[in-house]
Amino acid sequence: MGSFVGVWKGHAVDPETRHRGSSAGVLTALTTWLLESGKATRVAGAGADRDPRRTVPVSITTKEEALASAGSRYAPTATLSNPDIQLPGTAVVGKPCEISALKSYVINAKANGNRPSTPILLSFFCAGTPSAHATQRLIESLGIAKSTVPDSLWYRGRGWPGRFTVQLRDITRSVSYDESWGKVLGPATQWRCKVCPDGVGESADIAVADFWQSDDSGYPIFVETDGSSAVIARTIRGRDLLLEAVSEGIIDLEPIDINSLAAVQPLQVQRRTGLLARLTGSLLAGRRIPLFTGFSLAKIARRQPRLFLRIARGTYQRVRSAGS
Ligand SMILES: Cc1cc2nc3c(=O)[nH]c(=O)nc-3n(C[C@H](O)[C@H](O)[C@H](O)COP(=O)(O)OP(=O)(O)OC[C@H]3O[C@@H](n4cnc5c(N)ncnc54)[C@H](O)[C@@H]3O)c2cc1C
Repeated sequence: MGSFVGVWKGHAVDPETRHRGSSAGVLTALTTWLLESGKATRVAGAGADRDPRRTVPVSITTKEEALASAGSRYAPTATLSNPDIQLPGTAVVGKPCEISALKSYVINAKANGNRPSTPILLSFFCAGTPSAHATQRLIESLGIAKSTVPDSLWYRGRGWPGRFTVQLRDITRSVSYDESWGKVLGPATQWRCKVCPDGVGESADIAVADFWQSDDSGYPIFVETDGSSAVIARTIRGRDLLLEAVSEGIIDLEPIDINSLAAVQPLQVQRRTGLLARLTGSLLAGRRIPLFTGFSLAKIARRQPRLFLRIARGTYQRVRSAGS
């Protein structure tokens, strides 16, 4: 789950924000509060394009814009391509990879005297970015023709977990989160996401995740209910912001044990546990691999040597058969 200063279960206090958000609207509530309290002049995030089958970087300056960007968008978008990120006073909500890249950039820029301060960095747990083709497949599975541009499209939120929904004039069609993520979007994530060492927003000030309820085997239960997030302060600044937001009635937080979060995030745990084995299998099969430092991958892998061998062998065989 990465290093942290504090970890809570929580949700946005404003019911509309909680409802619109992906898990419980915490990121949207913080976005609105950062703007209204003057702690940020704009927040860079992601939202639907005019053609809502596409997801694009957005600059948020009002509560209405924050609500319009609420909800995870399971499609490619490049938040850091937003030029506003260079402007002082911009806070950023992004995927863990984006936040980690931005933090490295700022650290270098500061060392060279080119940037005075680090923007407020908000992130979320991320299982990976699905291909844009997966969005199109879902739309067509709802009986909407490829050439049709929907009026609106959202992947989840407006409930928890919420449904993949397409609106076209007076027609609304939707499919459950379990079906959309589990069968179409999740399997379409990119290879680079499958070998990502940080799906948990380690470089952010604050990282937010779904705090699922789970069945006896630990598998998350996706029954529609009021949203609940796990909220992690990764820095002192993140913790201070969260506690101030609580005292101002923006979010509700209740302390939890980090192990209870790990228990309902099996994908994140398995991904990091098996990452070194995956990389090793790929390398032995002749692929070039990325190098990661600072994620204790060897230490984690040593705890389960049999699992390491099983995953490395499986990856080796898959890569070899894909290449032949
Ligand atoms: C691709 C992807 C994979 C995810 N995988 C997991 C996971 O494995 N486990 C888990 O617990 N949670 C995952 N989430 C996050 C989860 O769905 C919630 O976003 C998180 O719990 C925060 O909820 P919230 O209600 O506070 O966010 P909201 O209040 O709904 O705010 C969401 C914020 O995220 C930004 N955003 C939305 N989509 C993107 C995007 N594609 N790229 C960059 N920024 C974006 C928006 O600008 C908005 O500010 C994933 C999200 C995405 C986009």
